[in-house]
Amino acid sequence: MTTYEAVIGLEVHAQLLTKTKAFCSCSIQFGNEPNTQTCPTCLGLPGALPVLNRQAVTLAVRAGLSLDCTIRETSRFARKNYFYPDLPKGYQISQFDEPICENGTLDLFMGEGDTAYTRRVNIQRAHMEEDAGKNLHDRGDDSIVDLNRSGTALIEIVTHPDLRSAAEAAEYLRTLRDILVFAGVNDGNLEEGSFRCDANVSIRPVGTEKFGTRVELKNINSFRFVEKAIIAEAKRQEECLRTGERIVQETRGWNDVAGTTYPLRSKEEAQDYRYFPEPDLPPLVVTAAEVEAARASLPERPREKRARYMASFGITPYAAGVLTGHPKVAAFFEECVASGADATKASNFIQAELLRDVRTKGLEAEIPVSPAQVVEVLSLVDGGTISGKQAKEVYAAMRGTNKAAKAVVAELGLEQMSDEGAIEVIVVKIVDANPKQAEQLRGGKLGLMGFFVGQTMKETGGSANPAMVNAVIKRVLGLP
Ligand code: ADP
Ligand code: MG
Ligand code: ZN
Repeated sequence: MTTYEAVIGLEVHAQLLTKTKAFCSCSIQFGNEPNTQTCPTCLGLPGALPVLNRQAVTLAVRAGLSLDCTIRETSRFARKNYFYPDLPKGYQISQFDEPICENGTLDLFMGEGDTAYTRRVNIQRAHMEEDAGKNLHDRGDDSIVDLNRSGTALIEIVTHPDLRSAAEAAEYLRTLRDILVFAGVNDGNLEEGSFRCDANVSIRPVGTEKFGTRVELKNINSFRFVEKAIIAEAKRQEECLRTGERIVQETRGWNDVAGTTYPLRSKEEAQDYRYFPEPDLPPLVVTAAEVEAARASLPERPREKRARYMASFGITPYAAGVLTGHPKVAAFFEECVASGADATKASNFIQAELLRDVRTKGLEAEIPVSPAQVVEVLSLVDGGTISGKQAKEVYAAMRGTNKAAKAVVAELGLEQMSDEGAIEVIVVKIVDANPKQAEQLRGGKLGLMGFFVGQTMKETGGSANPAMVNAVIKRVLGLP
C-alpha cells in the first residue's frame, strides 16, 4: 500500500501594530461600536484618496528582516479586485508582483533527542496590504457590515510548500507569532483576529517529487484547529486517492464539531482578481540606509534570547522557554538579573510564584510586583533574613502593592530566626521531650533527623534558619 506525506504551505495575515490604518488616519482600536472608526477613505467613498502610513512600512520592514527576507528598494501597491459586502471599494490595496519583502527563511526545531530534526521553511514573500471590514451576523434579525477594520495595515507572509506535517505547521505558526511579537510588529492576539492563517494542503506518495493538487483551508482561528484541520484534510485526500477519486482544487472550511473539512468554493468559482498597479499610490521606496537602520534597531529574536539565557545565565532550556513566553516576562527577568539577582534563583522564583499571577493580553502583561521587589525578596533569602518558604508569604503580601519586601517582612513579623542560642534552647527542649527518638537517632537511625528538624520548625512557626537547625541538632546530640 502506498504511503503518503502531506505537503503544506501557509499564508499568514498579521496585523501591523500601527496606531492608525494603512491609508487613512482612522484608529484601529479593537472592540468599539461598529462604524465609529471610519472616514471617506476607508469607507471607499468616490474621490477619497489613500495616503500611506509610514509606520506600517517601518513595521513591515521589521517583519521582513526578522524572517531574513530581502527588502525590495522599490515595491509597488496593486489593486486586487473582488466583490464582497465588507469591501466597499470593490478592491483591496495589496502588493502583487513587487512585494516589499521576499525570500526569507524560518528554521523549525522539531522533536526531541534521537528524533530531533530541523525543518527549514522558505518564505516566498511578505507583502503589505489592507484588511477588509467584517460582516456581523450576531445582531438579532439583522446582519450589518462593520467597517472599523476596513483599511487596517496587514502583512501577509507566504511560505513555499515546505512543511510536511500538521505538527510542523503548528510549530511554524507558534514560532512565527513569537518572532513577530518580540519584534514589536504584531500583538499575537488570535482571539481578536490579529494573526490569521490559511493552510494549503496536498499529499503525495512518499519518495516522489511532484506536488499533488492543493486544497486551501481558510479562516481557522486557533493553532490547535489548524493542526486538526490539516490532519483531517490530509486523511480525506488520502481516502480520495485510495478510492480512485480525483482531488479538486478548492477552498474548504473546518467544522470542529464534526472534525471534518467542508467545501467553501471550488476553483471554478474562484475569482480572477485582475490585479493592476494602484494608480493612487506612488511606488514605495525603502532606501538601503532605512533598511540598515531598521536592522540595527531590531531586538533579539526569541530563539536568540533563549540561547543567550542558557549560555550566559546557565538556565535550563525549559526555563528559557518559559521566560521567553512573553516579551514582558522576558524583560522582567532580565531586569531582575541586571539589578543583581542570581539568574537561576530569579528564574525559579518567576516560574514558581510570579507566573501564576501574570495576565497577558496581546503585547500587554499585568505583573503584580516590580523586578525591584523580587530582587529584594531574593536578597533577603540569600542573606538569611527569611527562608525560602517565607519568601512565598512575603511575595503574596507584596502582590498588587508597591511595598518593599523588608517592610512586608517586618509587618508580618517574619524575620527568620538565625539566633543560634535561641534555636539551641528549643532543640534541647524537644530532645528532652523525645528521649526515645533521640536515642535512636544517636544510634544511627538517620531518618529521625527530619523529625527533629520538623519539630523545631513547628516550634518556631517555620521561621528558624533550616541550615542552622540541622547544625544545632547534630551538635546537641553529639552527631558527626
Ligand atoms: P495563490 O496565490 O492562488 O494563493 P500561490 O501559488 O501563491 O497561490 O500559493 C499559495 C500557497 O499555497 C503558498 O503558501 C504555497 O506554498 C502553497 N502551495 C502551492 N502549491 C502547493 C501544493 N501543491 N501543496 C500545498 N501547498 C501548496
Ligand atoms: Mg492563497
Ligand atoms: Zn479611515
